[in-house]
Amino acid sequence: MKNRLFYQSRLARPELDRAEGIYLWAKDGKRYLDGSSGAMVSNIGHSNPAVLQAMREQMEKSTFGYRLHFQTEASERLANKTAALCPEELGRVFFVSGGSEAVESTLKLARQYALTRGEAQRYKVISRMPSYHGSTLGALAVTGYAPLAAPFSPMMREMPKIPAPRAYLDGLDPDDPATGKHYADMLEQTILDEGPQTVLAFIVEPVGGASTGALVPPAGYMQRIREICDDYGVLLIHDEVMSGGGRTGKFWGAEHWGTVPDLISISKGFGGGYVPLGAMIARDDIVEAVLDAGGFAHGHTYAGNPLACAAGLAVIDEIERQDLTGNAAAMGDKLKARLNALKNRFPFIGDVRGKGLLLAFELVSDRTTMQPLPKELGAFDRLVNIAYDKGLIIYSRRTRGGISGDHFLVCPPMIVTEPQIDEIMALLTEALDEFAA
Ligand code: PMP
Repeated sequence: MKNRLFYQSRLARPELDRAEGIYLWAKDGKRYLDGSSGAMVSNIGHSNPAVLQAMREQMEKSTFGYRLHFQTEASERLANKTAALCPEELGRVFFVSGGSEAVESTLKLARQYALTRGEAQRYKVISRMPSYHGSTLGALAVTGYAPLAAPFSPMMREMPKIPAPRAYLDGLDPDDPATGKHYADMLEQTILDEGPQTVLAFIVEPVGGASTGALVPPAGYMQRIREICDDYGVLLIHDEVMSGGGRTGKFWGAEHWGTVPDLISISKGFGGGYVPLGAMIARDDIVEAVLDAGGFAHGHTYAGNPLACAAGLAVIDEIERQDLTGNAAAMGDKLKARLNALKNRFPFIGDVRGKGLLLAFELVSDRTTMQPLPKELGAFDRLVNIAYDKGLIIYSRRTRGGISGDHFLVCPPMIVTEPQIDEIMALLTEALDEFAA
C-alpha cells in the first residue's frame, strides 16, 4: 500500500505502540529508553496517570470552545497558574498550540506595541547564529540556521544575527564576566550598526536547545543583554520553548541569572507530550497598550482549547507535586558528571555542557583545536543510529552552521531515577564504543 504520510525526509522508523514513564515500545515489542524526551517534550514522562485522568475529566465536559465564543475554566486556571510562575511584571498569557506559534506571537505583539508608541520604524529582531526559533516564516526569519532559511529567503525578511556565545570554541573562559561582556557587546554593536531606532527586539534562548546543544551563557551575559536592551528601548524576548518548564533545574531557564524579559515563549514540556500546547507570556503594560489601541491582530483557532489547557494544568501540577524541577537539578548534576567522565575514555568528546537535564556533548576531531569531526565520517547519523539500535534515543544536530560538527542532546524525562541514569550511561557507553571501533 502506498504510504500517504510524509515528514521532512525518507527516514523510516518503527511504529510506536505504547509508552510509559521513560520508555517507549515499538509494535515489534522492542523497548526504547527515551533519552531525549522526544524532542525535549515528554518532560514528566509518558502516560502519567494524573494527567490522563485530568484529560478524561475534561473530555467528558467539553473538548473545544472557540475562544471568541467562550472563556473556559481550564484556560483561565492555566493562565493564572502560568502567570504565577513568572516574574511579577509578566502577567498576561496568550495560548497557542506549539513553539513556532509562541515565537511568532512574541514577534507580532512586540511589533504592535512599537506601533502603539509611534515607533513604526522599529521592526528588526536581532537573534543569534546558530539558533532555532521555529519553522513558520516569522520564526524562521529569526532562526540562525542557514540551510533551513535559504530556500525561503525571497518570502521573508532575514533578520540580523549575532554570534551565539560559544566560549568553548573561541577558547574563552565562560566563568569570566569579561567573556559574557565580550559576546553581549556584539548585540550593542549590531544595534548601533542597524540603527537603534529600527531595532524592535532581541530574541534569545536562556539555555540553548537543539541548535547550540544546551549552550549555557557565559557569566554576566544575560544581565548585560538586559541592560543593552533597556539602553536602546529594545524588547527582550526569552524563547523558553525548550528551556522552560523545569528542565534546566529551575522552572524558567533565565531564573539561573535572575534576568526578566519583556516577553516569553514556551511550549514542548508545557503540554508535556500530552497535547499540543504553547504560550506567549507578556508584560502587562505591553498587552494593555495593544488592546487599548484596537487589539492584537493575531490568533490561532485552537488557542486555549479546554482539553489542552486541562492537560497543561495537570502537567504543571505533577511537576510541582513530584518536585520534578528539583529532580531535574539533582539528576542533571549526576548525569552531567557521568557524561564528563566519558571524556577520559573517548578523546573525541570535546565538550559536555548544559544545565539540569538539558545536557549535551559535542564530538570533535581534536580537543585542543576543537575542530569538528570530518563531515564524511557521518558521525551525526551514525552515533544516533547505533544508540537507537541498542534501544537508546538521543537527539542530535549538526552544530557548526550545518556544515560540520556534531552535538548530541541527552535529556531524559525529569522523572528519571539514578538507576535509570546508570542504564542510559551503560547504553551510551556501548554505543560510543561501537562508534569508536
Ligand atoms: N523555539 C525553540 C527554542 C525550539 O527548540 C523549538 C522546537 N525545537 C521551537 C521554538 C519551535 O517549536 P515547534 O516545533 O513546536 O513549532
